[in-house]
Amino acid sequence: MWILRIGLIAITGIFIGWLCTKIISQFPKRQHIFHSTKCNNCDTPIKPFQQLPIIGYFLSHGKCSTCGRKYRSFVIIVPFITPLLLILLFVKFHFSLLFFQYSLLTIAGILIFFLDINDRIIPDIITLPMILVALIFSFFNDLGFWATLQGGAFCAGIFLLIAIIFRLITKREGLGGGDIKLICMIGFSLGFKLTFLTIFLSSVIGMIIYAFSKFRRTMLIPFGSFIVIAMFVSIMTGNELINWYLGIWGI
Ligand SMILES: [Zn+2]
Repeated sequence: MWILRIGLIAITGIFIGWLCTKIISQFPKRQHIFHSTKCNNCDTPIKPFQQLPIIGYFLSHGKCSTCGRKYRSFVIIVPFITPLLLILLFVKFHFSLLFFQYSLLTIAGILIFFLDINDRIIPDIITLPMILVALIFSFFNDLGFWATLQGGAFCAGIFLLIAIIFRLITKREGLGGGDIKLICMIGFSLGFKLTFLTIFLSSVIGMIIYAFSKFRRTMLIPFGSFIVIAMFVSIMTGNELINWYLGIWGI
């Protein structure tokens, strides 16, 4: 039964991942997700069998059959990573309400991660409805409506303050409005404690990547992508991490 459930989640995850690749490639062009997919380089329409999740990538050897331009890496990464993350959530939360809430959040996170890293977009059309979803779930989950509302508002306030201070000190736009709405989405979904951990972890991840990577030169840091990684770590291990940390101090 366990294997059957994991298999079901894997297949659903691959399909959702495939839909996500469509959104990630079509959204920046403002096209419908089922608008004919074309090669970015030579405009040749990609054949339906080449668009199949995972299999299509290998059948076309990961590149355009006309001009040979390689497909962008998310085309193969997303249909792999989506089922994997959903299975991890299932192992931790089983088929609970939290599993479904966090699955939605993770799927939104995958979209935001790749849209932000590829095109520096964190679409309101993802973050704002997810805030509404979090509020609806809060009527049924342990967090409760008021804690959800307070978590969201407080975290957004902190982040807004950080953004303003960053701007005053560096005279540069470090955090966009998209980042703040993303933090709101996480604040409303996870509550204050886990969101605070997410902000902390994303700063650490951001600093490490910033120190070692090419983002240093461009200064256009896809901070939203770091926030998404930190969000997933917080979902999976946040409470344990916080308890461990408090334990060190004997609290
Ligand atoms: Zn081509």
